[in-house]
Amino acid sequence: DVADIPAVPEWLPNHLRDAGIESLYPPQAEAVEAGVTEGENLVASIPTASGKTLIAELAMLASVARGGKALYIVPLRALASEKHAEFEQFEQYGLDVGVSTGNYESEGGWLAGKDVIVATSEKVDSLVRNGAPWLDDLTCVVADEVHLVDDGERGPTLEVTLAKLRRITADLQTVALSATIGNAGELADWLDAELLDSEWRPIDLKKGVHYGQALHLEDGSQQELRVRDGEKQTAAIVRDTLEPDRDEDGAVREEGGSSLVFVNSRRNAEAAAGRLAGVVSEYLGPEEREALADVAEEIRDVSDTETSDDLADAVADGAAFHHAGLSRGHRELVEEAFRDRLIKVVSATPTLAAGVNTPSRRVIVRDWRRYDGTAGGMQPLSVLEVHQMMGRAGRPGRDPYGEAVLIAKSHDELDELFERYVWADPEPVRSKLAAEPALRTHILATVASGFASTREGLLEFLEATLYATQTDERGRLEGVTDDVIAYLERNGFLERGDGGLTATNLGHTVSRLYLDPMSAAEIIDGLEDADDRPTVLGLYQLVARTPDMYELYLRSGEDEEYTMLAYERESEFLGSMPSEFEDNRFEDWLSALKTARLLEDWASELDEDEITDRYGIGPGDIRGKVEAASWLLGAAESLAGELGLEWTPAIREARTRVEDGVREELLDLVSIRGVGRKRARRLYEAGIEDRAALREAEKSVVLAALRGRRSTTETILENVGHRDPSMDGVEPDADAAP
Ligand code: ADP
Repeated sequence: DVADIPAVPEWLPNHLRDAGIESLYPPQAEAVEAGVTEGENLVASIPTASGKTLIAELAMLASVARGGKALYIVPLRALASEKHAEFEQFEQYGLDVGVSTGNYESEGGWLAGKDVIVATSEKVDSLVRNGAPWLDDLTCVVADEVHLVDDGERGPTLEVTLAKLRRITADLQTVALSATIGNAGELADWLDAELLDSEWRPIDLKKGVHYGQALHLEDGSQQELRVRDGEKQTAAIVRDTLEPDRDEDGAVREEGGSSLVFVNSRRNAEAAAGRLAGVVSEYLGPEEREALADVAEEIRDVSDTETSDDLADAVADGAAFHHAGLSRGHRELVEEAFRDRLIKVVSATPTLAAGVNTPSRRVIVRDWRRYDGTAGGMQPLSVLEVHQMMGRAGRPGRDPYGEAVLIAKSHDELDELFERYVWADPEPVRSKLAAEPALRTHILATVASGFASTREGLLEFLEATLYATQTDERGRLEGVTDDVIAYLERNGFLERGDGGLTATNLGHTVSRLYLDPMSAAEIIDGLEDADDRPTVLGLYQLVARTPDMYELYLRSGEDEEYTMLAYERESEFLGSMPSEFEDNRFEDWLSALKTARLLEDWASELDEDEITDRYGIGPGDIRGKVEAASWLLGAAESLAGELGLEWTPAIREARTRVEDGVREELLDLVSIRGVGRKRARRLYEAGIEDRAALREAEKSVVLAALRGRRSTTETILENVGHRDPSMDGVEPDADAAP
């Protein structure tokens, strides 16, 4: 019973009951028995949707009740706001909850006053690098989705960050939450933690494969599920799920339910939603239609793009797509309408499977292979990923059980899918720390932030990582470590002397800026190579070719287009262009050029819609690229300053233009609150060229330039501190505040 949990605040039992939680789920009870509310370390490896969040909350609340401070580490930014919103429910009891994402190079002093802090592992890593003093006060750290230490790109950061936090604070309670994995015991060894390894689920899950005219379930049973002529299997399953369940007399025993369809690319998600909308549409009543039309309208209001239109069209018919290219506003509207059972089917890329709580009666894993550029071609998904998607099936309290279905197109594939996913256990999780790019970054940071000052100290620190727990080959880690130290020394980031290691000023800057040292080296070489003031394209291409900017692949046929562009604008590039005979390097160079041109288009006021078309991406991707470029150019500015290079004004111009998506002459106007790139252009064309001119402008001229939008005009004039007497009594220049 919830009243019997030791060491938690006294308001908690009632709070839980109000939220419909009368008793703990068995894994939660086990966690309490293991001492999670009494400061014990715990690794909880349990299935999706089995109540991991409450385990974390119990640990954090108990820790805060003892006068401590808790940190909750999430793998994705999108999850940070989700968890923050969830923990805000505790503010009514006097807890202070904060979320920290955003900018990397600060110590987040304002977080010192918070009781519970939510942050991504990258953010926490950067807080450690910047020496945030309040980290000493932490008493409890929760790592969500800890199985992601297996991820080559981001896993090492989580691994090293946990090791550092545990070193900063000796008695830090560590709670690690994981999906069910093969080797949770190793994670527990690493973290000196109790192990909770459970298969329990609040609602039964039946896994199966659809083939031919039947659903084959793991218990050996078959269920007829007919596919109509010309219909796809996915559509047939979605239709079957929508059919109400009737008794012999035809009375409805149970309403139809929703489906979640996982596919392997954004484009496929969008296409599937369009097709499935046709299936769902037949099943909608007039009231549902009306409510869906409202949601569709809200979606169109979020942004004026093709993606927005496509999404709204699908939603009007009760279907939607969901992927990382969607803007936050779109994503939230879709998730909410799906939970409210208005949207009946969502086709998604696997981002949704991680963390976002969107259960549905059936889950259909349509694609079990995905394109992987580094491995060359289509690669099967891991068992862990597929099981996580499948775990979203079944809504406790609503469905008798959930069903998760893979799709086979042949009898052989039916057998293969059973072997590969239905009956298989998830893979063990393996540390990826020994990879060079990861070590490069983390070794510099470890020395720069004072965790180690000798080669031996460094190796000792690395002993506290999962990697060390998992390997007997100490020699390998030593070897890579030596290579990395040599690389960092060669590039002027580290210095060796008297058997000790120290970070140079430049090394400290690079570490604080959160740059991969290789990115920093590339940027420095490029800037040192410039004889004339660099152009924006040159600077964009420079930052786009660093390992810190994720790649925009070339589509077939684009090689030629970008090769031509590369020769046309060769003089603008910083650093020498690789020759066409160096296949891979040249191809990478062209991909970076593609990204650079996208950024240049954006900074030249090309319409969002035209950009998404031209590059085959979503509006969310433009945001992502712009944010990355703005951060990297900011870092380039600091590096240029540090090295006494003269190009800071050029870099600043490139950065501010890409941040606001405008040409240089509009920079002053867009700094006014309420004035975006389009409005600034209209004002400029009406002869109002800067803030000062706007302050003095005729109101009617402004109104005409803003297409007669009266309230917008009033607001903007107010923000700029217009001299118009009718605005008397209004504080001038309200936008001077941040
Ligand atoms: P996970 O993080 O393991 O994927 P969540 O923590 O999001 O799963 O929990 C899934 C759902 O179960 C949530 O809606 C949560 O409110 C509910 N839940 C958690 N614990 C209990 C409980 N003891 N009794 C009833 N519902 C619970």
